[in-house]
Amino acid sequence: MRSVTVWACVCGVRYRAICQTGFIPENKTEVACLRCESFTLIAGIPQNISEEVAEGDWRSVPGGQLQ
Ligand SMILES: [Zn+2]
Repeated sequence: MRSVTVWACVCGVRYRAICQTGFIPENKTEVACLRCESFTLIAGIPQNISEEVAEGDWRSVPGGQLQ
């Protein structure tokens, strides 16, 4: 099962990820911000992560993963 998660890092950058939640919805993944390297815990296994570059405009994060 897929879900879309949008979150804001503590530094203010907004990210969006399509997540694979599978049969264990409480699965969580820790992702690191590209700018400040703060960790955020999100639900599921993220795929196709994007960052917001302008109001409503999203750009793919290189590699599709924040690690
Ligand atoms: Zn950040």
